[in-house]
Amino acid sequence: MPSGQPGRWGRGRLNGAAILPPPLVGELQAIVGKDHVLWRHDELRSYEYDGSIDVGHPEAVVLVGSRDEVVEVVKLAQRYGKPVVPRGAGTGLSGGAVLSHGGIAVGFSRLRRILEIDEQNQRAVCEPGVVNLDLTKATTPLGLYYAPDPSSQGACTLGGNVAENSGGAHCLAYGVTTNHVLGLELVLADGSVVNVGGQAVDVPGYDLTGLVVGSEGTFAIVTKITVRLMRIQEGVRTLLATFDTIDDASRATSSIVAAGIIPAALEMMDGLTIQALQRAGHKGLPSGAQAVLLVELEGMPEGLSESTAAVQDILLQCGAAEIRTAETADERDRLWKARKGALGALGQIKPNYYLQDGVIPRTRLLEVLRTVTEVSERYGLPIANVFHAGDGNIHPCIVFDQRVPGETEKVVAAGGDILRKCVELGGTLSGEHGIGLEKQAYMTWIFSPVDIAAMLAAKRAFDPQGLLNPGKIFPKDTPAP
Ligand SMILES: Cc1cc2nc3c(=O)[nH]c(=O)nc-3n(C[C@H](O)[C@H](O)[C@H](O)COP(=O)(O)OP(=O)(O)OC[C@H]3O[C@@H](n4cnc5c(N)ncnc54)[C@H](O)[C@@H]3O)c2cc1C
Repeated sequence: MPSGQPGRWGRGRLNGAAILPPPLVGELQAIVGKDHVLWRHDELRSYEYDGSIDVGHPEAVVLVGSRDEVVEVVKLAQRYGKPVVPRGAGTGLSGGAVLSHGGIAVGFSRLRRILEIDEQNQRAVCEPGVVNLDLTKATTPLGLYYAPDPSSQGACTLGGNVAENSGGAHCLAYGVTTNHVLGLELVLADGSVVNVGGQAVDVPGYDLTGLVVGSEGTFAIVTKITVRLMRIQEGVRTLLATFDTIDDASRATSSIVAAGIIPAALEMMDGLTIQALQRAGHKGLPSGAQAVLLVELEGMPEGLSESTAAVQDILLQCGAAEIRTAETADERDRLWKARKGALGALGQIKPNYYLQDGVIPRTRLLEVLRTVTEVSERYGLPIANVFHAGDGNIHPCIVFDQRVPGETEKVVAAGGDILRKCVELGGTLSGEHGIGLEKQAYMTWIFSPVDIAAMLAAKRAFDPQGLLNPGKIFPKDTPAP
């Protein structure tokens, strides 16, 4: 169980006097305008959280309107020795945008312009506050889309996606965020502006783009993002296979990939998730199923019929009780709406959830899901499974009531047990949500002190004073940069 820090999972602070020195508030207001600095406690409340269970207290939130404002804010924070934490939509699930060490949150809700769409070269240049789905909406009329599609894509921002190296349902075939980011404009900890990567697929020199993607806001603040766009495929088939056991659904997942078929998406939802979705009013899901697989295949129409038939055969051989094919775009949208709304629907069971994000080799899916069941029984906590099965990226979602004393600690311990099993099975701590505050205590399970020292050296090179998103990723006893 993580060591935690005082009040880590506590309730928000009550209204009271401001905590930021008044001269600093005035200087921030001079940079971004009076209306774009939040510093009273009631204004700060909604910035104390992200999508995880962690809580931290910003001293101010600055809603920047340009790259140059970011530069000035960073320089000012340096002068006052205040931490700076970039913040997108706050949907992160590992506490990345939570200000565990106080300081200034830099919000990007005003920087949400798509600056350029280059149809011929299949690229777009975006500000960091662009909502993921808005990019695909803007490029769909051109026959293009942005492939990484987190289930939160209607809210989360490209800046957050870059920082977390986010994945999504359709990343199985096309890769996660790092495979789609070509270049970045960054504001470094000393306020200097640098460009890494570029417009082409590869650039000479160190791959600093690759280093910054997934750095969870601890290396630099991203102020512009160049991404690759994909062409929308001509044909798509979406299947929903129903299983009486989660073991059969797991076997089907491994068998499809072992047969050399890489679907665009291969997602699993278990019985508890299906029940929650039904209670939340989602129609068209099979009652009584213990698991469903949502399989999407894409390609040219001819090849598609062949691969669809092959997948159907495997699903049946592995015990699928029923296979439905979405016949219309509406039906397909309904299925995806259910999948992407699954976490929200879990509120039908308990008010809170704690979503784990472990990775295992696909062939170990069956074992890890059995462990999830054991952990659920041992702790007496319901755990729903809704995840990117094809990637071996599990998301056991422990549902609970945070108001019950001791419940949160129990949930965190149960999550830790599941992650421990992932590591034992040859997997790792995170597939897409990052380490943040949530998993820093587990880093020593997979990294030696020398590995961690090498990461710290990289952090020091970017941020010698340790003011960019401090207190994240590294285990608590790691010396500060
Ligand atoms: C219902 C739900 C479903 C989800 N599904 C998925 C999923 O399928 N796949 C997946 O990968 N994730 C998923 N997530 C997690 C989350 O949406 C992603 O991690 C997302 O990328 C976070 O984006 P955000 O804009 O909300 O970032 P935030 O939560 O605001 O921040 C996340 C991190 O990014 C940093 N950051 C933000 N902006 C910048 C910037 N401009 N420069 C530098 N650092 C920055 C922050 O400091 C923080 O460390 C889901 C979350 C929810 C609530």
